[in-house]
Amino acid sequence: MQQHNYLRLCVLSRSPDHCPCCISTMTFFALLMFSGLMTGCTGNSSYSLPPRLLLVSFDGFRADYLQNYEFPHLQNFIKEGVLVEHVKNVFITKTFPNHYSIVTGLYEESHGIIANSMYDSVTKKHFSDFNDKDPFWWNEAIPIWVTNQLQENRSSAAAMWPGTDVAIYNATPSYFMNYSPSVTFKERLNNITTWLSTSSPPVTFATLYWEEPDASGHKYGPEDKESMRRVLKEVDDHIGDLVQKLKMLGLWESLNVIITSDHGMAQCSESRLINLDLCISRSDYSLIDLTPVAAILPKINITEVYDKLKNCSPHLNVYLKEDIPNRFHYQHNDRIQPIILVADEGWTIVQNKSLSKLGDHGYDNSLPAMHPFLAAHGPAFHRGYKQSTMNIVDIYPMMCHILGLKPQPNNGTLGHTKCLLVDQWCIHLPEAIGIVIGALLVLTTLTCLIIFMQNRLSAPRPFSRLQLQDDDDDPLIE
Ligand SMILES: [Zn+2]
Repeated sequence: MQQHNYLRLCVLSRSPDHCPCCISTMTFFALLMFSGLMTGCTGNSSYSLPPRLLLVSFDGFRADYLQNYEFPHLQNFIKEGVLVEHVKNVFITKTFPNHYSIVTGLYEESHGIIANSMYDSVTKKHFSDFNDKDPFWWNEAIPIWVTNQLQENRSSAAAMWPGTDVAIYNATPSYFMNYSPSVTFKERLNNITTWLSTSSPPVTFATLYWEEPDASGHKYGPEDKESMRRVLKEVDDHIGDLVQKLKMLGLWESLNVIITSDHGMAQCSESRLINLDLCISRSDYSLIDLTPVAAILPKINITEVYDKLKNCSPHLNVYLKEDIPNRFHYQHNDRIQPIILVADEGWTIVQNKSLSKLGDHGYDNSLPAMHPFLAAHGPAFHRGYKQSTMNIVDIYPMMCHILGLKPQPNNGTLGHTKCLLVDQWCIHLPEAIGIVIGALLVLTTLTCLIIFMQNRLSAPRPFSRLQLQDDDDDPLIE
């Protein structure tokens, strides 16, 4: 009401020169817009408890499973939260490298976990799925659970996640489980929720990892609809159990939960094999990693090995280390071998003729079949918002923001996730253009109105004299 009178006053005034409130009108609109921006920026600050986050990974959950199979529990989770349909992961699209990129925000060449199988030629150390406990491999980066624990009165917990059972920078999470694929999902869930609800200092960052649907994707291949339907229903039931447990413990509304994955899965076939033995003698090289990205350490002249391999198959890209495309961000690390071979989607590199798995991943990270998804729910996230894509390295700065942690240097961009977060102001280009045009229209209309009123008030009025006489003629009547 007050604003209304203020505006009316300004419109009726004779000249902007004599009326500071016309300038104030402009200021008022500017303030109105600014306050809108500020509201967007400060957002929902209703959660004053220390922010908490549970990061969940279902290994090998290909993005388009969401469109092609039924996920009643996951879809309910998404309905009340956010969904990123495709997450562009990092090359190579394997489990250890991508899980470490999620928790560090770094490309593989920067965090050092460049494959599931590695060899360091200086120390002569080997790394594999079953030999991953040496901190040497992990210490090129600091994962978020370590950074979180450096804050006062905070602890981290892990019901498995690559690296969480290793003393990275001399620290494991305060609560963790040694990796064992035979531990059931239920046991992992019980552990993590117990730690989240009872620990002191409170667990503010937690991880939960599950091997499916990756294991079944390898075994049956993603095109085996019946087998995949069965395992994806189990995955969805696990998500149902997770949500139910969080609700039962009173954590559902206060805890932020991210459900994501490391990579997708491609269908392989006996008819799509690249047999290295047909191109090069095994005595000419050491094989550090095999498929679909082979890491080759030559025992003879590098160029000679390269020449033997470069025409091995039209479905094999052969790179000298220095020629690996920049877009892979996969070059500047001593653990990357002198020659790498990258198979086309669905092709398998072998040293003999047998195919060991019907599904695989590790291929070019620009392939949609290699992408996972991301869904999130909690006080930090919008409800019912969907966006098409983000990078896997963007998850780290988003998690640091939610937890109020100062991020380590990383390759991610918080701006790519702003639209997911309630405390960030997010606008798309078409909307921004619309707002600017709208604001210009309002200002133009107001200016015209002011000019019109000024002209009207300053124009000669035929009855003004008569009115003046009316006002002043009392003495004459007397
Ligand atoms: Zn796998």
